[in-house]
Amino acid sequence: MQDFEAAVQNLRRILAASRRAVFFGGAGVSTESGIPDFRSQDGLYRQKYKYPPERILSHSFFMEHTEEFYEFYREKMLCLNAEPNAAHKKLAQWEKEGRLAAVVTQNIDGLHQKAGSKNVFELHGSIWRNRCMRCGMPYPVQRIAKGGGVPRCPCGGTVKPDVVLYEEPLDQAVLDGAVRAISAADTLIIGGTSLNVYPAAGLVEFFRGGNVVVVNRGAPAKDMRGVYFIDAKIGELFSAL
Ligand code: NAD
Repeated sequence: MQDFEAAVQNLRRILAASRRAVFFGGAGVSTESGIPDFRSQDGLYRQKYKYPPERILSHSFFMEHTEEFYEFYREKMLCLNAEPNAAHKKLAQWEKEGRLAAVVTQNIDGLHQKAGSKNVFELHGSIWRNRCMRCGMPYPVQRIAKGGGVPRCPCGGTVKPDVVLYEEPLDQAVLDGAVRAISAADTLIIGGTSLNVYPAAGLVEFFRGGNVVVVNRGAPAKDMRGVYFIDAKIGELFSAL
């Protein structure tokens, strides 16, 4: 408890001195909103599927087993009713107050925007955008959620979510914006990510500022020497700030 209090005090001090902090986050930011991550105790890797999530969420799997992809995607990724938690809300507040310049997220759930954040770089796209692979027409996510099987455009083409699947490249403009924001940041807060997924995890190397804070349940995969590591639930911690 003393550690938690000390972490709150330290983070408050760091943030009070920050003018262009950047938050870099992952699936752990949304677990307190009820969306499972990949690698926690109740993460998707511990659940029983015929294939591991990384295989199902790959480009080749999407092309070859589109119906099975959508079964998993509807059940596990399309969390349209999830609400932002204290972490999303606090980040939006800091942006409004002029302390936080950007959120760079690996998440596809749109909860940062739902909480009010404006400058969000969605490295892996968003479940909220979907389009036809043949004619490019947008397709409403609600229709994907409600329907069964493979969603089809009126033109007959297959609808694909605008999420970056494994084997697919990241969007260059999003990547460039994220690199620019991280390079210009005075504080980098990394939260709720195992830093296992590349190239996204490599972006933290672009940071040139003073303070790096990591808020995570358990140490991430990367070498974290020289950073301030707080082992905590991010929503709980941020709600105390
Ligand atoms: P990950 O599952 O590899 O790692 C999540 C990390 O967050 C773990 O280290 C876990 O211990 C930690 N964590 C879980 N709950 C936490 C909490 N309340 N507070 C602090 N830490 C917490 O996730 P990743 O590193 O983001 O990589 C997985 C990939 O899959 C990413 O692309 C990710 O965005 C995507 N994904 C996204 C969602 C989503 O959009 N919500 C959900 C699942 C997976």
